[in-house]
Amino acid sequence: MSKASAFAAFDPTSPLGPYELERREPGPRDVQIEILYCGVCHSDLHTVKSEWAGTVYPCVPGHEIVGRVSKVGAEVKGFAVGALAGVGCMVDACRTCASCSAGLEQYCDRSATVYTYNTKDKLGPGPVTYGGYSSQIVVDEAFCLRISDKLALAAAAPLLCAGVTTWSPLKHWGAGKGKKVGVVGLGGLGHMAVKFSHAFGAHTVMFTTSAGKAEDARRLGADEVVIGKDVDALKKHAGSFDLIIDTVSASHDLDTYTQLLGRDGTLTMLGVPEQPHPSPGIGRLIGKRRSIAGSLIGGIRETQDMLDFCAEHGIVSDIELIPIQQINEAYTRMVKSDVKYRFVIDMASLATR
Ligand code: NAP
Ligand code: ZN
Ligand code: ZN
Repeated sequence: MSKASAFAAFDPTSPLGPYELERREPGPRDVQIEILYCGVCHSDLHTVKSEWAGTVYPCVPGHEIVGRVSKVGAEVKGFAVGALAGVGCMVDACRTCASCSAGLEQYCDRSATVYTYNTKDKLGPGPVTYGGYSSQIVVDEAFCLRISDKLALAAAAPLLCAGVTTWSPLKHWGAGKGKKVGVVGLGGLGHMAVKFSHAFGAHTVMFTTSAGKAEDARRLGADEVVIGKDVDALKKHAGSFDLIIDTVSASHDLDTYTQLLGRDGTLTMLGVPEQPHPSPGIGRLIGKRRSIAGSLIGGIRETQDMLDFCAEHGIVSDIELIPIQQINEAYTRMVKSDVKYRFVIDMASLATR
């Protein structure tokens, strides 16, 4: 076993603070990664505050991990010491069921997906997995991603969750030329959804509650921006969308968006708020055979496809780089929707506490 320094939450309300944890020695198919940067996802905050219940403390969050390989097991084929590597939201699954075989390990039919943090850990020394707010991690190479050195490394970290979580539904529901796509909420997920939707050639409309983000939304690739409950603007878009991706982290009224879908349009929910949304009006759904759907992160194969596409097209996240000592302040700002557009932790700061 080897030691790793980290930042952890010790209960739902106290600030995160320094913590030391143990990682397993790399097995034959394991890769040990020295973590250089880790993105800060709103899911980290939901988990730290136990808003989804079931958080095991101490909790070390972080699932947008990039770094350099520092050790490999004897059977590892795809990664060499010194190579760049990434880890997203999952570190294992059953690997043999129909969903895993289809490259959709997040939907493992045996519910055996092991998330990067706060999931029962059969391999490691701790009761649960510990994430990327730490100096190193050990992961089976089947769940490690290759990162091109063409990408700015810190800004590539959020691709591992915010990137693939928006890429996957945009691909699944066919965002592209001739399609009209809405994105609700301009945060970490939302800004990647706008970038990808624009890159795929869809007519992209941003829905934000923050008037101050309108200009950025256009710069990120939105063709149109609707601010808050601008009734006239909403009316103009009624019945016109093929797909709306909802990334909002808080409970809200879904009817605002279902009525904007065209026939057979889909509102895909990505946000997982602590409190449920008010029940949507069924009349609005049956009238045009509209759907409300959900989507969870993305599989390992599609994560690699997304990373390769980003390297080819020069797409990364817009980030604010912070030392880990500022993580609690970052969470406070995230709750206020004040992030442009993803915090990324510079893990070198762990050594300077
Ligand atoms: P984030 O950076 O905090 O962005 C969320 C955005 O939602 C905010 O910037 C804000 O955008 C909008 N918003 C927040 N509170 C709102 C409210 N009360 N009413 C209306 N809009 C509000 O969060 P994130 O990291 O992108 O994550 C978003 C959600 O997705 C979280 O619930 C997270 O847990 C979840 N998530 C799901 C998956 C998945 O696999 N499905 C993966 C990762 C994260 P504006 O200022 O533009 O209004
Ligand atoms: Zn995430
Ligand atoms: Zn499986």
